Amino acid sequence: MEVNMRGVVLLGDRECYVKDFPDPIPGFGQVRVKMMASGICGSDLHLYRMTKEQAKSRGDRIPGHEPCGIVDMVGQGVKKVKEGDRVTVYHYLGCGHCEFCSAGNLMWCREAKGYGGPIDGSHADYVIADERNCVLMPDSVSFIDGAFIACPGGTAFSSMRKLDVKTGSNVAVFGLGPVGLSGVKIAKAMGGRVIGVDVIDLRLDLAMSMGADVVVNSQKEDAVSAIRNFTNGKGVSLAFEASGSTKGRTDIIHSLCRGGKAVFVGVGSNENVINPSQIIGSQLTLMGSFVLPLWMTYEMVNFLDNQKISFENAVTHRFSIDNASEAYKIFDEGKTGKVIFEWK
Ligand SMILES: [Zn+2]
Ligand SMILES: [Zn+2]
Repeated sequence: MEVNMRGVVLLGDRECYVKDFPDPIPGFGQVRVKMMASGICGSDLHLYRMTKEQAKSRGDRIPGHEPCGIVDMVGQGVKKVKEGDRVTVYHYLGCGHCEFCSAGNLMWCREAKGYGGPIDGSHADYVIADERNCVLMPDSVSFIDGAFIACPGGTAFSSMRKLDVKTGSNVAVFGLGPVGLSGVKIAKAMGGRVIGVDVIDLRLDLAMSMGADVVVNSQKEDAVSAIRNFTNGKGVSLAFEASGSTKGRTDIIHSLCRGGKAVFVGVGSNENVINPSQIIGSQLTLMGSFVLPLWMTYEMVNFLDNQKISFENAVTHRFSIDNASEAYKIFDEGKTGKVIFEWK
C-alpha cells in the first residue's frame, strides 16, 4: 500500500501537524477525489482549540469539510461519476433511505456523518466520497468556488433563498467572515441593495470588494442608525445574521422594517436576546438555517455559472497542505478573510 497522502492531524491546544497516510481506496459506490481546494472553517477552529485530552480521543481523524477537486479513482458500482470529473463534495453522508435523505436534506439524517467529524475530512490530498455526494461543476466554476459551495457559500445561498431576495430588496448582513461575505455576493447577484456590518475594518473592505453598497463598523458607529439611514428611516426588509454575537442578534431585531425577515446562521453567544414581544407588532419572521440541502448544491452551481460570480475576493490566504500549522494559526487569529488550502 502506498503511503503518500498528506493529512492534517489536530493535537489540541492550537497545535496540528501534517502526517503521511496510506492513499485511500474507494469502496463500493464510492469515489476518490483529489483535492484542489479545501477551506478552513470557523467550525474547524473549535476542533483546533480542543484540549489535548479531547484530541487524544479523536485520534488521527483528518479535519476539513469544504472539499473540492477532481475524481481520480472510482470504486465498484459507481455509475455516473467518472475519473477526471470536477466536483464539489456535499459534506454530509446520510443513510440514503430516511425521509430527510430522500428529500436531499442529508444534514438532518439521524445517521448523518460530516466530513472531518466522524469520517476523514478534506485537509488532505484525497477524500473518499459517496458517488451521490459528488456534484459536477463546469469549468467556469473554480475549485475555490466549489469549496465555498460546500460550506460558507452554500450556507449563505440557502439563507438568501429563504429570505427570497428580489431586485431592490434592502438586505443587511451582520458578520463579514467567509459566510457573511458570501452572503453579500449572493444578495447582490440576486438584485439586492446590501449593507454590511462588522467590527474589523479588513472585513469591511472585503465586503466592499464583494459588492456591498455600504459598510458599517459597529464598534465606531451605531449599526441600527446606519441601517435606518440606508433605507430612508424604514429599516431593511431582509437581514442575514452571520456574526453569532449578542450585539448582532439584538441589532437585527431593531434594523428590520415592518414585515421584515431575518435568517440566523452565526453560532456563538448563548445569551437570550430575542423577546417575542418585539416581533409581534412589526410581524417579523425569524428563521434559522444550517448549510444547504444536496439538491440545492446543484442549483447553486448553476447560479454561479449563470451569474458569472465568484467568491475568490473573500480569500486572503492560500496555503499548501504542508503549511497547515501556519494556516490554522493565522485563521485562528481572526483577522483574515477566507483561508484555504490549494493544490496546483
Ligand atoms: Zn465550513
Ligand atoms: Zn437518512
